[in-house]
Amino acid sequence: MNYQDDIPLAKRIKSIRTIPAKSFLRIGFLFFMVGISLTFLSNRSVLRQTTSLEDSINLIENIQNKSLLGHLPYPQASKDELILFSPGIYVHKDIYENFKEMQFKAAQKGISLQLLSGYRSINLQRDIFYENKSIRNQTAIERSWDSAPPGYSEHSTGYAIDVGDGDYPNTHFEVEFEQTPAFKWMKKFASKYHFVLSFPSNNKQGVTYEPWHWRFEGTVNALKKFEDANKITKFK
Ligand SMILES: [Zn+2]
Repeated sequence: MNYQDDIPLAKRIKSIRTIPAKSFLRIGFLFFMVGISLTFLSNRSVLRQTTSLEDSINLIENIQNKSLLGHLPYPQASKDELILFSPGIYVHKDIYENFKEMQFKAAQKGISLQLLSGYRSINLQRDIFYENKSIRNQTAIERSWDSAPPGYSEHSTGYAIDVGDGDYPNTHFEVEFEQTPAFKWMKKFASKYHFVLSFPSNNKQGVTYEPWHWRFEGTVNALKKFEDANKITKFK
């Protein structure tokens, strides 16, 4: 005997129809939820990408807002961080041995690396900046192309040096320095001693090419000083 026979026909039809309808609804609802979740997740990852791109742009904008005529602000080294390298030229203690070693290795190849300038106090930088400005009759913007405004020079940290070729003194602080054996040797080997060219040609900071100006990045403290400068190189 069939149990359904006890149920009136109308009710039987209704109950037979409702069961699959409910299942369809459930499956449909499941698909709907999965769809919503997937859309939400993919939107989130797009959003995340946009945010990180925006972060990079904001980061560079923040750094650029701090800069003056392309130069970034730098703190002045304290007296106990400095050491006399040669008459009148102080450098940060951290770079002393590295430069000596580099100079020695170059000399073995008959190349004369001459330290022309090291640490400069903010006051000295002020004199250089404004004196040169009046001597050369340049505007502040033109002046900044080859010397940073006071408070904005890597030299204030003690980690930046200007190097010349002792055999070609007429190329000191000139772009022609790039043709000397000293520059060619440094370009190849300076990184071994943690010196990097701060303002290569067409640098992203927009500072004039200075083949003689190198900075030291061989300690955590030194690297921290040049963090912003390196971010510009990396992200811009
Ligand atoms: Zn310099």
